[in-house]
Amino acid sequence: MALNKDTRVALNDGHSIPILGLGTYASPEVPKNIGEDATKIAIDLGYRHIDCAYIYGNEVQIGRAIRAKIADGTVKREDIFYTGKLWCTYFSPELVRKGLEKTLNDLQLDYLDLFLLHWPFSLKPTGAEAPNDPDKPFQYDHVDFCSTWEVLEACKDAGLVKSIGVSNFNRRQLERLLNKSGLKYKPVCNQVECHLYLNQNKLHVYCKSKDIVLVAYSVLGSHRDQNWVDLSCPVLLEDPVLARVAAKYNRSPAEVAMRYILQKGIVVLAKSFSQARLKQNLGVFDFELKPEDMKTLDGLDKNLHYGPFKEMKQHPEYPFHDEY
Ligand code: NDP
Repeated sequence: MALNKDTRVALNDGHSIPILGLGTYASPEVPKNIGEDATKIAIDLGYRHIDCAYIYGNEVQIGRAIRAKIADGTVKREDIFYTGKLWCTYFSPELVRKGLEKTLNDLQLDYLDLFLLHWPFSLKPTGAEAPNDPDKPFQYDHVDFCSTWEVLEACKDAGLVKSIGVSNFNRRQLERLLNKSGLKYKPVCNQVECHLYLNQNKLHVYCKSKDIVLVAYSVLGSHRDQNWVDLSCPVLLEDPVLARVAAKYNRSPAEVAMRYILQKGIVVLAKSFSQARLKQNLGVFDFELKPEDMKTLDGLDKNLHYGPFKEMKQHPEYPFHDEY
């Protein structure tokens, strides 16, 4: 499969998404200007797809980085593919557009390329003013994501977003959205945790059958931020089987972990704020895994969620009780 850093995957609404995206989540103690600088470096290196979200608390800085690279002539706005996500406290229909406009205002951009429902469940908007406060207990809310979706469709029609999609939806939830009466636009993608230990084969087959692109996060084994990840989980990039395959190709474990997902036709997000690793990760386009090595790596799947978001387990829309 001849993939390169400019390869794009067709979306079901006529747009397309670059197959490799820069992740921008970092734990709250990381100064936000580090992500800003890394985004500029990434754009200089050729990254064109940037994944962010309101809840990451850094859209002001990421927007500034993008605009700086437009201003200095490195890229045009239309070269950049920016994904934002509606946080769960903005699911009430009257808040959806407000949430999107907040993102656009923080970014100082006129439109988003892709806007996702961050999770299928809604939370009480009381948390919205302090989204990064880990001490603030989440309060469940029960807005049906189908009614949120209708406002997203209107935002697409209004030109505020080019494409709309979902994140962390299971098959049942995707089906409910697809079967919703009066559906105007199908979700173009489902962004989910997906890596060697959770390869999402069944969800991928289902999404493909519905022309929904799977976008993978935590491909490198996650950010391991203890606010979200159980640190007793094994470190993916230290896996001995992965190390053996990587040695065979004279590549880093990170490159092989990413290449494995890319070769399945899944869009890959990878976060790095290090210039050296941003550069190294582009090496995924310089080699191809042989079928027997893809098969060996398939054997590493163990249904492990680095980010199971356990606080939400009792919510009726918690997505991870189902097999996929
Ligand atoms: P990743 O799996 O991408 O891993 C990031 C970690 O890997 C960082 O610690 C990074 O460190 C390190 N790393 C990067 N490149 C290399 C390399 N070549 N060798 C060794 N280590 C490396 O993490 P995320 O879980 O953050 O997922 C990526 C993105 O996906 C997020 O940033 C976010 O945009 C999105 N996401 C979406 C979610 C959702 O609910 N929709 C949930 C979680 C993530 P360093 O920066 O120092 O290089």
